[in-house]
Amino acid sequence: MALIVMKFGGSSVADTQRLYRVAERITNTYKEGNDVVVVLSAQGDTTDELIAKAEEVNLNGSKREMDMLLACGEQMSVALEAMAIQRLGCPVVSLNAWQVGIHTDSRYSGARIRRVDASRIRMELDRKRIVLVTGFQGISPDGDLTTLGRGGSDTSAVALAVALKADLCQIFTDVDGIYTADPRLVSNAKKLQEITYDEMLELASLGAQVLHNRSVQMAKRYHVDLEVLTSFANVPGTIVKEVVKMEKVIISGVAKDCSIARIALVGLNNEPGVAYQLFSLLAKKKIDVDVILQSIGRGDSKDISFTVDLADCDEAAAVLEANRDELGFDHLDVRKDVAKVSIVGGGMLNTPGIAAAMFQALYEEHINIQMISTSEIKVSVLIDKAQADRAVRAIHSKFFD
Ligand code: ASP
Ligand code: MG
Repeated sequence: MALIVMKFGGSSVADTQRLYRVAERITNTYKEGNDVVVVLSAQGDTTDELIAKAEEVNLNGSKREMDMLLACGEQMSVALEAMAIQRLGCPVVSLNAWQVGIHTDSRYSGARIRRVDASRIRMELDRKRIVLVTGFQGISPDGDLTTLGRGGSDTSAVALAVALKADLCQIFTDVDGIYTADPRLVSNAKKLQEITYDEMLELASLGAQVLHNRSVQMAKRYHVDLEVLTSFANVPGTIVKEVVKMEKVIISGVAKDCSIARIALVGLNNEPGVAYQLFSLLAKKKIDVDVILQSIGRGDSKDISFTVDLADCDEAAAVLEANRDELGFDHLDVRKDVAKVSIVGGGMLNTPGIAAAMFQALYEEHINIQMISTSEIKVSVLIDKAQADRAVRAIHSKFFD
């Protein structure tokens, strides 16, 4: 007998038939003799619909009220799923963040979990009930409802797995595992049996949106094995863990991120302190900077370019423009039609020639590289957005065909 946390995403519980199917899955695990704790997301597009409703009423409603509203979606799911399980005759109880005691800070719409109380869930498990818990929600120190940010239910599930010392945390989604590339883009993308936390983190931050990043960080910190699998079929998924046993692969995936922008400051003074000044301005606005490139100085001037989230681009450009005199640059060059394509793999550490193979694939497709950045387990390039899909296919086939 084990304690298993099962998390189902919005698409898995989107309608009544799917609620029934998930109920079967949950009760099967329960009937095998396991203690089962289930975390659910809001059904289908519910969260988006609630956001649209809010915007209809007031485009600038406070974040507190947004969280109050968005938390409803998950509460609907757990209650409906509990009713679906009751049809199958199994004992079940649904609980929200208040009832469990999922304590967060008070950052509405992006709250961080501080502590999860295990006692109520333990009591329900002792009574042999299946316990359904709202994902995404928490309560602030003031007792207000908070939400963890979009996609946050994965993080709820891992936090519960940590608090309950669960044996396994299963994340059910609409894809049946982690692939070497987006299968919708690359037809021969392969499903990975296992992947390390670090590789998964790189892939997630590079736009392979399977798992909420914070959930993987938390799983890594507390050594929770995660299994990513589909609720639509009975097939094994991908296990995310610290060390993979299998034969070590060099590259575990190719990912693209199209929601970035590139900003270049042309004609900066070629003197100490310029980069410090520039990036402090952005840090003060809490704007994250990714790839950074500085040109060789030509006499008394130099250029610095960097990428930011597309959503932060206008604000970043405005701050820089407002400080043009202090920074002393000639002009800004902003491009939103860019994408970052990356390869990720723990095995590239000791394998020469990986970056060269990637660049060759791009060259053969006549795709120009604007920027390059690397870490121990990743190589990223910035290219034209219009060429991103072609680049992913070409790079994938270079490494996996
Ligand atoms: N329902 C929330 C969202 O759509 C949380 C989640 O699904 O993980 O972002
Ligand atoms: Mg999700």
